[in-house]
Amino acid sequence: MITSFLYMGYRLCSAKCLVLGLSLTFIMGCYLASVSIPSEQKMLPDAVKPKISHSTANKKTLAILVPFRDRFEELLEFVPHMYKFLDAQNVPFHIFVIQQKDNNRFNRASLINVGFLYTKNVYDYIAMHDVDLLPLNPDLKYDYPAYGPLHISSPKTHPKYHYATFIGGILLVKKEHYELVDGMSNKYWGWGLEDDEFYVRLKEAGLKVTVPANVTTGPDDTFLHIHDKTYRRRDGRKCYNQREVTRKRDRETGLHNVVYRTHSVHNLTIDSLPVTVLSVELICDKNVTPWCQCPEPVKPKKTR
Ligand code: UDP
Ligand code: MN
Repeated sequence: MITSFLYMGYRLCSAKCLVLGLSLTFIMGCYLASVSIPSEQKMLPDAVKPKISHSTANKKTLAILVPFRDRFEELLEFVPHMYKFLDAQNVPFHIFVIQQKDNNRFNRASLINVGFLYTKNVYDYIAMHDVDLLPLNPDLKYDYPAYGPLHISSPKTHPKYHYATFIGGILLVKKEHYELVDGMSNKYWGWGLEDDEFYVRLKEAGLKVTVPANVTTGPDDTFLHIHDKTYRRRDGRKCYNQREVTRKRDRETGLHNVVYRTHSVHNLTIDSLPVTVLSVELICDKNVTPWCQCPEPVKPKKTR
């Protein structure tokens, strides 16, 4: 009798324990799924270290972050050019191409956020670098910025943009400063304004942007802009309330909440020069930024 009571007690407990165990596993699973982005980050291999030589030892290291989609021809020119240009300056660097691999409109700022998260444990400063802007003047020094961010493609020398607060194209930022301003906004899908919003972040943080010293060249001979505007059309569409929202400083999004999935990391070479391609899917919350996909423009009706 006693034994059968004990046996029933044991059966009851084991059933309860099983239910309890399963529930705990489920709750833990849900919790892990909800924090899957940072944990995925941990599973990635460490970012490739820069090539260090005698002349570059003890120097701060630079991660060149290139936001990228469908610009393969430009990349083939960019990589050998940058090696030639920066090796002459003894800058220890590595090129990271952050490729957007999803159906959303291009998001340059979020890609830079992803590139920063991937490289921050290894590198001291970043260059946000357009793939189609090739520096020509050797006086454009890509050294660790002494103070605030260093705008390599200043308004006086950029081939296209000349307004005083322009900071797009090529900008060098120390790791600490990029973190201080929570990186870039994630709300800018499509072309334009993400760099202007970043300018406001820097300004509010009291960071003054400087430009390279002793540059005597101008908009025609400081850079080569390999950008064919008919072949590489800028996506200037505005839909939903995009215009209204992206005119304002964004206090909600940035480095801390960029949502993405890493598809692959490939270390490849172009003309035997190493480059890392990080392919990522940017995840859009359509409740917050419905303009990550604009409805197609209405096609004109055929008239006979
Ligand atoms: N970009 C890209 N694919 C695109 C759009 C932009 O790779 O479809 C990247 C590329 O690095 C480019 C940068 O974003 O240099 C800035 O875009 P774009 O050259 O169109 O802007 P611009 O400064 O010429 O107005
Ligand atoms: Mn361009």
